[in-house]
Amino acid sequence: MSEHPPTMLVSRLHYPVTNLGFRTRAGIWFQGCTVYCRGCIARDTWPFDPAREQPVDQVMAWLDQLPAPLDGITISGGEPTDQPGALLALLTRIHAWRGAREIDLLLYSGRATAHLDREFGWLRGYVDVLISEPFELAAATDCPLRGSPNQLVRTFSELGARRYPPETLDADYGRQRAHLSVVVGDGTIQTVGIPLPGDLAALRTRMAERGIEMTRTSWLM
Ligand code: SF4
Repeated sequence: MSEHPPTMLVSRLHYPVTNLGFRTRAGIWFQGCTVYCRGCIARDTWPFDPAREQPVDQVMAWLDQLPAPLDGITISGGEPTDQPGALLALLTRIHAWRGAREIDLLLYSGRATAHLDREFGWLRGYVDVLISEPFELAAATDCPLRGSPNQLVRTFSELGARRYPPETLDADYGRQRAHLSVVVGDGTIQTVGIPLPGDLAALRTRMAERGIEMTRTSWLM
């Protein structure tokens, strides 16, 4: 009996990403989330939309054709651990594909750290940096790499420890957070990065001043 190739629900793929980890990266966003953080800015990624299904190998083909530089891969969502089989298939392939190259793998999860350690201990074998815990709207500040300061940044490899040492997170990645990328597509405007409190409202206001009306916004859906 032949097994079907693994698939995943993909919200979007983007390159280059320059504000969600070390230097220049590829971004892979899973579609689908059951964490439901209050104040989530990516509510469009919550539904498990079957139309977003892609073979994991197709995502790998996209990764494989990216130009240099590629210093890392950031995986976010949605909630990647809501698709555990797809996540494991993706991480296994990325791990083999990067080989000895210094391409770090940073994973965002809105799940509690204790839950991840208990149920997803295998992440440590693939991921260099894990950022965990739900987003807390009331506590949101300008902390580096994270939307709210309750979220934890942990490294699981020598590469991760070298690129994300706790004592440099504030300086190096704090500066990054001030730079939100805006990607204009076919009738859509997407942001890449973690906005600072007030950024999205300011973006909407500035666009309205220029006569551009947003009919649906993922942080107000
Ligand atoms: S912040 Fe992330 S984990 Fe939380 S609801 Fe939004 S997509 Fe889900």
